[in-house]
Amino acid sequence: MTTTLNHKIFVTEQIPQSGRGRLPDGSTRMWSPITSTLITGRRDAVLVDPPMTTHQATEVGDWIVASGHSLRQIYITHGHGDHWFGALPLLQRFPGVTVHATEGTAALMAEQNDPQFRAEFWDRVFPGQLPVGELEVSVVDQHGLEIDGTALIPVEVGHTDTDATTMLHVPETGLLVAGDVVYNGVHLYLTESGGVAGIDDWLAALDVAEALDPTVVIAG
Ligand SMILES: [Zn+2]
Repeated sequence: MTTTLNHKIFVTEQIPQSGRGRLPDGSTRMWSPITSTLITGRRDAVLVDPPMTTHQATEVGDWIVASGHSLRQIYITHGHGDHWFGALPLLQRFPGVTVHATEGTAALMAEQNDPQFRAEFWDRVFPGQLPVGELEVSVVDQHGLEIDGTALIPVEVGHTDTDATTMLHVPETGLLVAGDVVYNGVHLYLTESGGVAGIDDWLAALDVAEALDPTVVIAG
């Protein structure tokens, strides 16, 4: 194995949701933590899944600077806004970065960024906290992207916590950045998995993850 790649993760704090009621025990509903992964080569870095809020994007940007690596590319695993709204300020801070996603993810990102959907959902849950703007996405195919000559391969697994979800696999090292295909210690987001098919699709996606025989799995 000749790769020089490493990775590190940044997990956001849980933050309260506005206007979404309280849990039966009277506590405030909290948003799940979100994992951003930095895959680093000799000098360059690829960020998988920027966080959600402007504040979180500042924290992740500081963390990238502290890594000493130059951010060149961003990969977004799936369309949910909590895994990419933070790319908007990060692109201003790190000019020249290319944002990659599969065609299916790019389409769902556009739906999440639709002004009406943002007004009816995101702006109610996180008023005044989310970056706004249009994101230019470079659509990747099954060949994916690369860093220092090592391939980073999108693995499309269809429906998991939304449709058209992916994981980013590094065959040379066995790293699997699983996005929201894999959760860890928080309740799964099942709102889009109504009916038997949704759950079955998700279980099949976990079989795909297992079959890759990863050395490291990073939960979204
Ligand atoms: Zn998600």
